[in-house]
Amino acid sequence: PRLIDDEEGGVLFYSTSALSSSSSGYGFASVEKQRQRLPVYKYRTAILYLVETHATAIIVGETGSGKTTQIPQFLKEAGWAEGGRIIACTQPRRLAVQSVASRVAEEMGVKLGEEVGYTIRFEDVTNTDLTRIKFLTDGVLLREMMDDPLLSKYSVIMVDEAHERSLSTDILLGLLKKIQRRRPELRLIISSATIEAKKISSFFSPSKRRQALQTEDHGPNAEPAILSVEGRGFNVEIFYVEDPVPDYLQAAVSTVLSIHDQEAMGDILMFLTGQDDIDAAVQLLSEESRNGRNQGLPRADQDLVFSPTPRGKRKVVISTNIAETSLTLEGIVYVVDSGFSKQRFYNPITDIESLIVAPISKASARQRAGRAGRVRPGKCYRLYTEQYFLKEMSAEGIPEIQRSNLVSSVIQLKALGIDNILGFDWLASPSSEAMIRALEVLYSLGVLDSDAKLTSPDGFQVAEIPLDPMISKTILASNQYGCSEEVITIAALLSMQSIWISARGTEKELDEVKLRFAAAEGDHVTFLNVYKGFIQSNKSSKWCHKNFINYNAMKRALEVREQLRRIAQRLGIVLKSCEGDIQVVRKAITAGFFANACRLEPYSYNGTYKTVRTSQEVYIHPSSVLFRVNPKWVIYNSLVSTDRQYMRNVISIDPSWLREAAPHFYQHQQPKPIAH
Ligand code: ADP
Ligand code: MG
Repeated sequence: PRLIDDEEGGVLFYSTSALSSSSSGYGFASVEKQRQRLPVYKYRTAILYLVETHATAIIVGETGSGKTTQIPQFLKEAGWAEGGRIIACTQPRRLAVQSVASRVAEEMGVKLGEEVGYTIRFEDVTNTDLTRIKFLTDGVLLREMMDDPLLSKYSVIMVDEAHERSLSTDILLGLLKKIQRRRPELRLIISSATIEAKKISSFFSPSKRRQALQTEDHGPNAEPAILSVEGRGFNVEIFYVEDPVPDYLQAAVSTVLSIHDQEAMGDILMFLTGQDDIDAAVQLLSEESRNGRNQGLPRADQDLVFSPTPRGKRKVVISTNIAETSLTLEGIVYVVDSGFSKQRFYNPITDIESLIVAPISKASARQRAGRAGRVRPGKCYRLYTEQYFLKEMSAEGIPEIQRSNLVSSVIQLKALGIDNILGFDWLASPSSEAMIRALEVLYSLGVLDSDAKLTSPDGFQVAEIPLDPMISKTILASNQYGCSEEVITIAALLSMQSIWISARGTEKELDEVKLRFAAAEGDHVTFLNVYKGFIQSNKSSKWCHKNFINYNAMKRALEVREQLRRIAQRLGIVLKSCEGDIQVVRKAITAGFFANACRLEPYSYNGTYKTVRTSQEVYIHPSSVLFRVNPKWVIYNSLVSTDRQYMRNVISIDPSWLREAAPHFYQHQQPKPIAH
């Protein structure tokens, strides 16, 4: 193929799904000019006026108009960070937090972590005395409320990307509304795409009576104001496939190749669903370009996603949903939309939550297309039919709170003293089935008592640990079993997406390498072996490479582990190793994860398991060291759905431990609903 010839230059492949931070080499002098060119700049006075006069301002505007990077700076320039106060800006995604924080630090010419900082789970890059603008995930801000329920150090809280309706954003908005009543001086800015703005505005609109009261004491107007930042988007021409595509990955890759072949210069942004997808696409594209006369460039540093494309080259950015609105990329002229994203789904009847690749909404599709019209008129290639878009695609997504397991949310609300969770002021109410399931699990974990109040100390301690309550409970249990060091190591490694390097075509080698670490008890113990090897290698990146282990993930896991050890010590957990007595580690895991117990079907020839609670059919994931081993009783860490429900990270157990761990839970075959 004449895809890549010398004049055209190579294709650069970058993926944004695991990007760390950005550094685009703009000089300080041009920054002010760049800022002034952003659409939001013209609204500076209007925004500051609204924030001054209204308790809540809702800002609507195109991606790239400058909301996230500029508004916090406007606020600071106008004095909202004086007197030790802090301006907060939340994002649903960790990656976006890091990226915008480093961009803003750069624009302001300050060192990241000083005047401008960020906090994500297990990573705090702020300075208590210096930080005035702080970017953080909505989840981290929720956690901060446990120590500071009124979020008193913040003068303005900007809830960014509210239209995404992430689980934590929804809960945060409900709580902020409560805080506002106690702190009339607090200002909220909520940034949202058009589609959600009205809903959010009426959510924050007070009753008539309250409004009357408010005017009397001359506070800010309690009625939310909506401001729309007019962007400068160019027209985007939309193309659909004529017939449904059987394999969106393949179709996406071919589309990129034909754009490169036939279209004028301009960068391409491809929307896929996750790391696996992206890695596969990068590999396919690299292979294609190797077939050409040039060698394709290797997968480059992900920071380069933001840097200007070299002259005569075309950049292909392959991204998850994150580039839909959270990150702005300059120079994109072509968008390839697979029509899918990874979404969380929870079924309260089966109590199974899974991340699955599902069709996006029309609202998302429009956002994606919009990414093509930033610099000049662009083109968007949708890998689905027009018929499908018009007739079948849903208008908007379902808020995450209505498709999530609520265990973590319930415990957090309880820890914040919200007792009547059903009566909480929800932007969208979760189903009562999901709520009851969550209460039931927390009750069986010993986190809630029969009045649905947090137990002491267990409930409060579990709430303190920033992990899923099942893992937190495992950590608490490890104290009794004398294996806290091992359990904390496991918890840290489990919190990484994956510690293995997997790529298409190397699955076999990876499987063989895994055997070096494989433990008969299961994946958790295998993690311990990997960790031991890593430490013995002196944390060597070469050792990781040789063993198909992701060095960066291991390094991060070490940091997480250190933080968890600190939290554990604060909670009075004795740091102790069981010195190889793995049975106690398995018992501790059972104490936290008994609800995920499964039993191999008698006479099963294909490894069919059934969950003990709801008799769902599940299988051990091929990536597990217990795949094909099929012990009689196992506990899984999580489920993934593809063609079947697969258990990821599995450990074998003795069924008698279940009754020991959760007598109420396993006494009766059917779990009993509890009072709440
Ligand atoms: P919005 O929040 O309205 O979508 P942003 O404030 O994120 O807009 O982006 C405003 C401008 O700043 C964009 O033109 C974008 O190119 C630039 N920008 C944002 N983040 C970065 C970054 N990490 N590196 C380089 N440029 C960036
Ligand atoms: Mg933004």
